[in-house]
Amino acid sequence: MTDADQLRLLAVHAHPDDESSKGAATMAKYVAEGARVMVATCTGGERGSVLNPALDKPEVWERLPQIRTEEMARAREILGVEQEFLGFVDSGLPEGDPLPPLPEGCFALVPLEEAAAPLVALIRRFRPHVVTTYDERGGYPHPDHIKTHEISVHAFEAAGDPDRYPELGEPWQPSKLYYHMSFTLPRTRALHEAVLASGGESPYAEWLENWDPENDISHRVTTKVPCAEYFDVRDAALIAHATQIDPTGRWFAVPMDLQQRVWPTEDYELARSLVDAPVPEDDLFAGIRSEVTVR
Ligand SMILES: [Zn+2]
Repeated sequence: MTDADQLRLLAVHAHPDDESSKGAATMAKYVAEGARVMVATCTGGERGSVLNPALDKPEVWERLPQIRTEEMARAREILGVEQEFLGFVDSGLPEGDPLPPLPEGCFALVPLEEAAAPLVALIRRFRPHVVTTYDERGGYPHPDHIKTHEISVHAFEAAGDPDRYPELGEPWQPSKLYYHMSFTLPRTRALHEAVLASGGESPYAEWLENWDPENDISHRVTTKVPCAEYFDVRDAALIAHATQIDPTGRWFAVPMDLQQRVWPTEDYELARSLVDAPVPEDDLFAGIRSEVTVR
């Protein structure tokens, strides 16, 4: 297969582990089908916590940034993707009232034009047809996730323009930009009800009680990618981020066969498109495949 007829997907994420919890089964599916998939990880996750009680030990905390790089390398192998760090420093999740200021030099404080530059360079080098990222609220309100959204939109628009960032390589315009939309109220409710119906205990009861329907994003979904046969790859990649995930926690509480039956897709919003592809659709490369293979 030559470069001209290989499909390429670029997934932009904030921290190591985000790629394994958002769109991982989609990536594994496209890798299995012969596409090239690249993960861009904006930060090293330096200000993250140890979220797995079994690893909450001083010797882990001491080496956390290095451990997270090693975990990312394992997840990358499991997913079969390529991966690059964009080199920014984790902003941390500010907590308290009032919120403390963001730490000096962190990703969220880098001016947009400068923060998007490494991603523009990567887009021009990797030449993806499709880019995925978070919506304008970051999926959840971590400053690095919101910044990831901002640089992705900025780079999607700048990478194809020869007048912008002229020093960063030959222009390349990706064809489609997507936002992750998998954590919706209908999906959570469907899984919750199916677990209860099977006599199990749902991990979602509290979430659902506190979920303001105003905050549901499911009406924005344009694209549902069937990828249930890769859910086990997704889970294996998540578990590789051992400091970030409790293997006995909520992520793994819903039986796999039930997930595959009740909600066999990962869902997206098509945010920008330069190709003719009617929605709803079930393929991130819809409208691109024919053009790429006849070229
Ligand atoms: Zn994150």
